[in-house]
Amino acid sequence: MSKLHGTSTGFGVTLRTMFTKPITEEYPEQESPVARRYHGRHQLNRYADGLEKCVGCELCAWACPADSIFVEGADNTEEERFSPGERYGRVYQINYLRCIGCGLCVEACPTRALTMTTVFELADDNRSDLIYGKDKLLAPLPAGAQAPPHAMVDGATDQDYYRGTVTNGVRR
Ligand code: SF4
Ligand code: SF4
Repeated sequence: MSKLHGTSTGFGVTLRTMFTKPITEEYPEQESPVARRYHGRHQLNRYADGLEKCVGCELCAWACPADSIFVEGADNTEEERFSPGERYGRVYQINYLRCIGCGLCVEACPTRALTMTTVFELADDNRSDLIYGKDKLLAPLPAGAQAPPHAMVDGATDQDYYRGTVTNGVRR
């Protein structure tokens, strides 16, 4: 390519750009929508009666290539039940200094307890605040639901919950 040709091509780009409408995003005053399937902050989901879907199995932690997830499971008891099965996630942490947003943890989860939201504002000015625990990751309680610990719906088993036959506090 001759020098003159290279220079005119470069100025051509400049001239074209001068007459195009500028795209200015007014973030953070105005948020632009992100892609519908954007991999943002995780969420630990609940059943309709408020029980947690996480069974503390640690499959998400094993699947994570960045070693971002720490799970410590514990046993449910009839007096203190947080999830329908035998176990629940007593401690659940995601380290957003490590997470690369790949979504492999979501794929590994057997109960669909873990999904990703489109929330992307995950910056902070210190390390400890970027390790999110259950206080930040648990989904809000559905309307009319009770915060765990509490018993399963009358007559329902953990299998009924996993199969989705327990909705709105009733076993179908
Ligand atoms: S999105 Fe990927 S990197 Fe982030 S916690 Fe899940 S598996 Fe780990
Ligand atoms: S989020 Fe899913 S994969 Fe991870 S510990 Fe809980 S149930 Fe297991």
